Amino acid sequence: MKNIYSYNFLIRIVFLLITPLFFQYFALGFIFHAFYWGVITFAVIIWGVLILLTPLFGRIGCGWFCFFGTTSDLSSKHSIFKMKWKKPKLWLRTLYFVLFFATSITFYLINKQKGITHGFEVIPGFIELNFNQHYQLVWVIDISIALIVGLLLERRWVCKNLCPIGSMCSVGAKHSRLLPVIDTNLCTLCGQCEKDCLVRIPMLDEIKNNKGLITNPECILCGKCVEVCHVDAVKLKFVWDRKKHKENEPNVIDIIRKRNIEKNHKKNILK
Ligand code: SF4
Ligand code: SF4
Ligand code: SF4
Repeated sequence: MKNIYSYNFLIRIVFLLITPLFFQYFALGFIFHAFYWGVITFAVIIWGVLILLTPLFGRIGCGWFCFFGTTSDLSSKHSIFKMKWKKPKLWLRTLYFVLFFATSITFYLINKQKGITHGFEVIPGFIELNFNQHYQLVWVIDISIALIVGLLLERRWVCKNLCPIGSMCSVGAKHSRLLPVIDTNLCTLCGQCEKDCLVRIPMLDEIKNNKGLITNPECILCGKCVEVCHVDAVKLKFVWDRKKHKENEPNVIDIIRKRNIEKNHKKNILK
């Protein structure tokens, strides 16, 4: 599906714009706050399911729904610094993850002492806490942070280094069955997919060393690489057996070498 990125973009813009409406009418609650009020909100349930499904569908939550990710993608297109791919900083991720849960537990215990927690009841709407305006403000602040960070740092910096949901998603996404798959018979190693990837994943390395399977757990399955490939070599596909796929797929370097030999041969015949 060549135009998959158009659908992705459309869906993400819709989610970005309707998030404050959700807060206004359904008061879903941010995950962080849900923890320290001791409630399980709709947002917690949705993200819980998306995290559990990462070994199957990878990071579709990060690539198709999250308004923070969408905003940072929009701004990082105009990034002041053209930064290359950098691996996530594991120590920073771990530190933020621990801080996230430590503060959540602390707030929860403080609220419990005051007798105002809910004992982790499922309250999808979270309406009774009447925090709608607060959430809308947080939404504006979050979007502003995403815009600024997107303009100043490498692509998806917050997703790779800070977001605790991203950290959990990346663990499952290491085993994702849904992947961008490159047809090594068609690929010309032009590098366009790497240049335009929303996360700046080192696609060429993956194509050369991983027989065309993009298994990087930071991939958000946005489909941008599918759109930009000039020879239609990229598809988002389910790969159930990575080992078998790699055994059957030719090495792209061998294919290109073969193509060049054939080209030279034809040239010599025409001379
Ligand atoms: S890593 Fe976090 S901020 Fe980034 S897209 Fe995923 S959920 Fe959103
Ligand atoms: S854009 Fe297509 S041809 Fe170019 S490197 Fe990527 S997969 Fe290969
Ligand atoms: S590899 Fe392709 S699908 Fe994955 S994040 Fe990059 S552009 Fe999107």
